[in-house]
Amino acid sequence: MTCIFCKIIKGELPTTKVYEDDEMIVFKDIAPKAPVHVLVVPKIHFASLNEAKEEKEKLLGKLLLKTRDIAKTLGISKSGYKVIINNGAGSGQVVFHLHLHLIGGWKEGAKGYIV
Ligand code: 5GP
Ligand code: ZN
Repeated sequence: MTCIFCKIIKGELPTTKVYEDDEMIVFKDIAPKAPVHVLVVPKIHFASLNEAKEEKEKLLGKLLLKTRDIAKTLGISKSGYKVIINNGAGSGQVVFHLHLHLIGGWKEGAKGYIV
């Protein structure tokens, strides 16, 4: 069975896209845990960070810097945001295709969600 994020990447499942290029896609989380919650996903399939390959170092760095840029685009850069990677079922990972959660947009004074 093809992974759900690979299906989104192939356009086989609908999603609300925030950004896309040839290496990555960013879309809104279907069950947001914060006022702003998007998923930053490499198009290449790694089940988790554990499986990420050394030769993809440049792509992995790009994911982080694009996440920062997207936080700015979404207007949460100054108010504060979190970037989370769940790694393994024990951490709460449920979709086994590497992704970064970008979450933020809380009201002023809120401390944010988890960690
Ligand atoms: P994980 O717990 O694996 O780190 O996070 C998976 C995330 O993917 C969850 O926050 C969940 O709400 C989201 N998600 C699961 N299925 C879909 C889907 O079909 N579409 C979108 N946009 N998000 C999904
Ligand atoms: Zn996948």
